[in-house]
Amino acid sequence: MSKIRIMDEILANKIAAGEVVERCASVVKELVENSIDAKSSEIKIELIDSGTRSIQVIDNGVGMDKEDAILAFNRHATSKLQTEDDLFHIHTLGFRGEALSSIASVSEVILKTCNQQVGTEVKIEGGKIIYVEPCESRKGTKIEINNLFYNTPARLKHMKSLYTELASITDYVNKIALSYPNIKFTLINNNSVLLNTDGSGNLLKVIHAIYGLNITKKMIEVHGENNDYEISGYISLPEIHRSNRNGMITLVNGRVVRNIELNHVINDSYHSYKPDNRYPIVVLNIETDPTLIDVNIHPTKMDVKFSKMEELLELVKNMIKDKLTTKILIPHIEIPEEKKMGPEYTEQTLPLERVEEKLEIYTTKEEILLEDENPNKSFEEIIEEKEEPKERLPELYPVGLVHGTYIICQNENGMYMIDQHAAKERVNYEYYKRKLGNPNHDSTSLLLPITIELSNNDFIILKENFQLLENMKFKIEEFGVSSVIIKEHPTWLPKGYEKEAIEKILEIIVQLEKNFSIEKFNESIATMMSCKLAIKANMNITLEEMETLINDLRKCQNPFHCPHGRPTMVYYTKYDLEKMFKRSGF
Ligand code: ZN
Ligand code: ZN
Repeated sequence: MSKIRIMDEILANKIAAGEVVERCASVVKELVENSIDAKSSEIKIELIDSGTRSIQVIDNGVGMDKEDAILAFNRHATSKLQTEDDLFHIHTLGFRGEALSSIASVSEVILKTCNQQVGTEVKIEGGKIIYVEPCESRKGTKIEINNLFYNTPARLKHMKSLYTELASITDYVNKIALSYPNIKFTLINNNSVLLNTDGSGNLLKVIHAIYGLNITKKMIEVHGENNDYEISGYISLPEIHRSNRNGMITLVNGRVVRNIELNHVINDSYHSYKPDNRYPIVVLNIETDPTLIDVNIHPTKMDVKFSKMEELLELVKNMIKDKLTTKILIPHIEIPEEKKMGPEYTEQTLPLERVEEKLEIYTTKEEILLEDENPNKSFEEIIEEKEEPKERLPELYPVGLVHGTYIICQNENGMYMIDQHAAKERVNYEYYKRKLGNPNHDSTSLLLPITIELSNNDFIILKENFQLLENMKFKIEEFGVSSVIIKEHPTWLPKGYEKEAIEKILEIIVQLEKNFSIEKFNESIATMMSCKLAIKANMNITLEEMETLINDLRKCQNPFHCPHGRPTMVYYTKYDLEKMFKRSGF
C-alpha cells in the first residue's frame, strides 16, 4: 500500500497559507526533511554555486516505489501527517507535502529512488513529467534540483548573493545536524566540504564539525531538570562570544525552535561574565511532554509557547549560572604556530562559521595544527584533557606593573596579566552587591547637607521613590520647587565621591522608572560604584597593594570578569613562552 496518502483537504488549507519556495535554503530544507522522514542515517547535500545551479540531496532512506515517486510531486500528497492531531503535536518533521510540487514547477528535477526491489527515475521540467522509467539504483533517494527559477525570471532576480544563499543553507544544515547527531550529514559546495558529521550520535562531535576543535574544547556540558523539563547540552565558556545570536541554538524535543525569552535568559545568565551585547555559543535540548508546548506553525521559523515558562526559564538560568561558578575562566592566550594552513582551509573555502569565528574571537586558532600536535589521541582524549585544578584562582605572585595598568604575575604554570582596574572593579562590585543586599547598613549624617537640583519631571519620578532611598538609609527631603536635600547617607558611599554617587543613584532611579526592579537597581548601583572607586589605569601601585588586590580577587565569586563582562586577567602557559622564544625544539 502506498506510503503517501492524499492529505485531508482541511489540513491542506491550514498549512498551505503563504508557503512559497523563496530561496535555495528553503529547497534544501524541504529535501533534507524528506530524507529524515525517510529514516535515512546518511544525508549528503551537494551544491553548485550555492545551490543556484544545482542542489542534490542523496540519502540512504527507505526510498519509494514507482507509484509514490510520481505521487510525491502531486500538490496534496503527503506521507508525513495523516490527521490534524498529528499536526498539532508534530512528531514528524515535514508537513508541507505540496512543497515538492512547488519546487518542481520552477526547476528541472531528476528523482532517482529505490525501495527494496525496484528503482525508478522521474524527470520533471517546470512541473511537467518528462519521463518515468525503471533504473538501477541503490536503496534510498537521490533528488537533483537544477536551474531553480529558470522559468520565473522575476524570482531569480530576488535571489540574494551567492554568499548569502550559502550562508543561510549552512546555517540551516548546521542546525539540523545538531538536531540529529545520529544522522551523518555532508554539505558540499563546488567540491569543497563545508560540513561533515559522523552520525555517531555524539552531540559534541557535531559541535566540533561545525565550530572546530578550539571552540569545542571550550564548551561545557550542562544538565538540568525539574518535574516538567529536562535540559541537556553544551554552553561555551564566557571567553567565547560573538556579535550575533546565530550560535545560540535551542531544541525542543529534538527540533530547533527560536524563542526570544529563552535566548534572553540564556544570555542574561552570562551577565557580568561577558559583555551583555555579545552572545555565547549554546546548544540546549529541552525534553518535555508535547502537551506542555504549543507549536506556532509558521513555515519558515519554529516558535513554541511553553506552559510553565517561568519554571523553565528559572531552570535554564540556574543551570548555566551554577556551571559558570564552578569553572576556571582565565582566557588562555594561544600563540599561533608558523606552519602553513592546509590548502582546503584557505580563506575562500573556509566554512562560513569558521570565517565568522576567525573575525569574532580574539584568541588565535589553528585547529588543524592542534590536531597535528595530538596525532595519536582520539577526539575524546583531546576533549578530556582540559582538567581543572581544585582552586578557581591559582596562586599568583606579582612581579611588577606595566604602563601603570597591567599587573604581571607568575606561578609554575606560566605568566598572568591582570588588568588592575578591572580586577578592582570586580572586588568593589561584589562588595557593593553585598552591602545593597543587606538592609541594616549604617548611615552618616552630614554637617553640610547635599542639595541636588533636578528637572521637574525627574523630580516627580524621584518623589514617588523616596521610600526606596529611605530603605537604603538616605535621609532625603524636598527642597524648593524641584530640588532635594540629603541629610544622611549610607556609610558605604565612596569617600570624596558622595555627591557624585548620590547624583548617579538618583539618575538610575529616574532611568529605571518604567521597568524598575530592586534587583536591576542594585545591579546598576553596584556596577557604577565599583568603577568609581576602582584604581584607574595609569596609577602605580606597590607590590603589597598588588598582593592585596589579588587576595581580594581570590575571595570573589567570579574573579575572572569585571562587572561589565571584560576579562580581569589573561594567561600564557610556560609552554607558550618557550614557544615564542623558540626555546624547546620549535
Ligand atoms: Zn571601569
Ligand atoms: Zn569594567
